[in-house]
Amino acid sequence: MARSYLGEARRRVGPKRQRIGPIIDRLAAEHADAAIALRFENDLQLLVSVMLSAQTTDVNVNRVTEHLFRKYRRPEDYLAVEPEELERDIYATGFYRQKTKSLRGTMRVLLEEFDGRVPRRVEELVRLPGVARKTANVVAAELGDAQGVVVDTHVRRLSQRLGLTRQEDPVKIERDLMRLVPRADWGRFPHLLIWHGRRVCDARRPLCEECVVSDLCPSSRAQPGASATSSPPSRS
Ligand code: SF4
Repeated sequence: MARSYLGEARRRVGPKRQRIGPIIDRLAAEHADAAIALRFENDLQLLVSVMLSAQTTDVNVNRVTEHLFRKYRRPEDYLAVEPEELERDIYATGFYRQKTKSLRGTMRVLLEEFDGRVPRRVEELVRLPGVARKTANVVAAELGDAQGVVVDTHVRRLSQRLGLTRQEDPVKIERDLMRLVPRADWGRFPHLLIWHGRRVCDARRPLCEECVVSDLCPSSRAQPGASATSSPPSRS
C-alpha cells in the first residue's frame, strides 16, 4: 500500500527535472531574504565564522565574532597569541580546543601557501586544517563562486521530501543536486531549502497546507491521503 501510494505521489507531481525550476522560483519568491546568517566583513572573517559554526548556532557565532574580529584582524594575529588565549576567546562556540587547533593550522597554511589570502577553489580550501567539504562549499559560495551544493540537515531532509534524491549520504545527495540544480543556483539553493525548512517544512511538523511547493512535493500531506515524514518520499 505504501509503495503504491508513493508511486501515485510521484506520478502526481511529475519528474524532478520538470519540478526543479518552479521549486526554485517559488521558494525564491517566498524566502527573498534567504541568506547566510553569519556576520562577516571580509573573506577571512567569513572563513573563521564558518569554521566556528560547526556544532553551534549562527547566532552564537555572531555573538563571539563581534569581539573576536576586533582583536584578530589578520592570519598573523591568530598565531601571535598563546593557544589558550584563543581558546578563551572562542570558548562559547564549543569544541574550543579543536577549533583553536584548526584555526591556528589554517592561518599557518594561509600564510605559508596562499600569501595570507583565503583561496576561492574548493580543492584549495579543503587543504586548510579543519576545513571539510561542507565548510569549503559554504565559503566558495559566499565568495560568489559556488562549486558544489551545501548539504546540511535541512537540505538533506527537504531534498528527500521533495523527491530530489533518494540518497542518505550527504556526498551522494550533493552529487544528485549538482546534476539537477542549474549551476547558477548552486549558491542560493541551499539557503532556500534551509529557510524553508526552518519556517515551513519542519522536521517533525511540516506545514504542508501553507507550503508554496505543496503541489510539487510527493511528500505533501496537503494532498488527499498523503503524509509528510522525515523519510525520503520514495525508495523504488
Ligand atoms: S509540502 Fe510539506 S513535506 Fe513537502 S516541502 Fe512542503 S512542507 Fe515539506
